[in-house]
Amino acid sequence: MKGAADRVRDEIRALTAYHVAPAAGLVKLDAMENPYRLGPAVAEELGRHLAGVAINRYPDPQAPRLKALLREAMAIPDGLDMVLGNGSDEILQMIAVVLAKPGATMLALEPSFAMYRMSAISAGMGYAGIDLSPDFSLDLPAMLAAIDRLRPALVWIAYPNNPTGNLFERQAVIEIVKASTGLVVVDEAYYPFSGGATLLGEVGRHPNLVLVRTVSKLGLAGLRLGLAVGPRDWLGEVEKVRLPYNVNVLTAAAAEFILERREVLEEQTRAIVRDRGILESGLDAIAGIRRYPSAANFVLVRVPDGPRAFESLKSRGILVRSFHGSHPLLAHCLRLTVGTPDENASLLAALAQATG
Ligand code: PMP
Repeated sequence: MKGAADRVRDEIRALTAYHVAPAAGLVKLDAMENPYRLGPAVAEELGRHLAGVAINRYPDPQAPRLKALLREAMAIPDGLDMVLGNGSDEILQMIAVVLAKPGATMLALEPSFAMYRMSAISAGMGYAGIDLSPDFSLDLPAMLAAIDRLRPALVWIAYPNNPTGNLFERQAVIEIVKASTGLVVVDEAYYPFSGGATLLGEVGRHPNLVLVRTVSKLGLAGLRLGLAVGPRDWLGEVEKVRLPYNVNVLTAAAAEFILERREVLEEQTRAIVRDRGILESGLDAIAGIRRYPSAANFVLVRVPDGPRAFESLKSRGILVRSFHGSHPLLAHCLRLTVGTPDENASLLAALAQATG
């Protein structure tokens, strides 16, 4: 037998590949993308800029200019180390690979971002998930007990959380960092929409805290660029497993170009935050929908029949993400990405019909 069955690790065979729903022809409100493109003038200038990039050359693996611009844009202190990834997805994977000693465990909250578990399993780590409270707040006593019991090498916390959209209590996150003997990574993918809530000021004050950010939700999801910042002691090790050219020359050049003109993205972000408020009010006006608070660019709702509402939205040309069946706390939940005002209005109208 030369099939995969005998040779592939059992835990990989048991995984299901990360599912991305086909979205052709649909209003895409399933993946927390910024719905806006660059304006035509900036896009054309970017095109000319990219035409000048030497694609015959490998990237500079240190990417000093890109790192300096990210530091400036995200107010990252000079004293902190930075590692770049092909999206923050790749950062998750690199950190898991570094910490996957035999018997090592990753601890995460549930429900949270599905890739935490996937990255633990693919790196060969054990994985344990601790349930959030029914209102999606962090159950600190349960987390502290799990840290004590499992002594995880790695704790992963999304701040704000996906798919629930809320911010955990800041002090609870700090308690987790203090109680952990392993690394705690705070994933701030949704920072642009959090109203300034961040643990960046804590990084460097604890020996075991690393922060992860991405440019994806800012409007550059297609570029694939994420970053980790934290103490050199940890990130120096992560850097060793980074593939030398993981951020390609076009991504680096485009990100540099746009970060120098980041007011375009900042304005789009402000519009998304404003439109999130309008969407929330609209959702609150639909009988039968329970809407959860959001500090991100999406809103989680619970409807009377999640799978039916999902299909009904889809038949009206709108793709959202259904979480029914993925975790008991998410029964009949849909995650709605904030789109353009028109998209949000169509979503509200379709939801009123779908749940009516
Ligand atoms: N972290 C969280 C919490 C996310 O929701 C996502 C994307 N859905 C990511 C990380 C990955 O983002 P990216 O790889 O695009 O940087």
